[in-house]
Amino acid sequence: MFDLSGKTALVTGATGGIGGAIAAGLKARGAKVIVTGSTMERAEAARERLGCDAALAADLGDRAAVDALAKEADALGPVDILVNCAGITRDTLMLRMKDDDFDKVIEVNLTAAFRLSRALMRGMLKRRGGRIINIGSVVGATGNAGQANYAAAKAGLVGLTKAIAREVANRGVTVNLVAPGFIGTPMTDVLNEDQREQILSDIPAGTLGTPEDIAAAVIYLASAEAGYVTGQTLHVNGGMAMGF
Ligand code: NAD
Repeated sequence: MFDLSGKTALVTGATGGIGGAIAAGLKARGAKVIVTGSTMERAEAARERLGCDAALAADLGDRAAVDALAKEADALGPVDILVNCAGITRDTLMLRMKDDDFDKVIEVNLTAAFRLSRALMRGMLKRRGGRIINIGSVVGATGNAGQANYAAAKAGLVGLTKAIAREVANRGVTVNLVAPGFIGTPMTDVLNEDQREQILSDIPAGTLGTPEDIAAAVIYLASAEAGYVTGQTLHVNGGMAMGF
């Protein structure tokens, strides 16, 4: 089950906590994995650390660089599995949020996923098979004070996922989203003890999730076994938000 031999995966944000676990997880299931990072040095270090096959660099806030990344990755692949995992936060309350805080978060978290999906979908459709897996967030469903930009981007990914899924469902390409709750990574290491306790009190499972919890969900959605699952959001959050 969940054998990915013969498939090529492109994982953005693989220098980060969750993206790294996803890349390693896909590799462990037999996929050839291309990792990306914002610089070649970081991408290459991640490739080596994770035992993956190739490294590419692109600033996902730069549209030309995103388009070039898609071309380079397809030349190495072609890409059968695209995981849009790179993400940034620029948290601040709404009245203080600058246009640039909003635009940058939308550009990296949502627009780059749209552009990479559009570019790599063409080959998937021709080959009549493929997987696009977006990494969203529980706050895309619930909202979160101080994260209007990030919640909008993550909710936008849900709509993008469903729309593309409808367009390509009859040609063997599935499009899904994994929505992590609070996961122990450098992104959450910055929380202080009070914030951590407050968060844990909202999680029925009583612990933060791990990057491997997210990787397991991605492996499932990338597999042949999930071929009849499309347009879905798979929440992986220890029960902190239910019913979405
Ligand atoms: P992280 O900060 O460890 O990793 C983020 C990755 O995105 C890094 O590899 C970084 O290089 C890459 N990235 C950021 N800006 C980029 C740019 N302009 N160009 C290229 N790459 C860029 O964070 P993480 O916790 O591993 O998060 C991974 C994904 O999971 C993100 O989409 C995040 O929103 C989502 N998520 C995380 C949590 C959590 O609790 N950690 C919860 C919900 C959702």
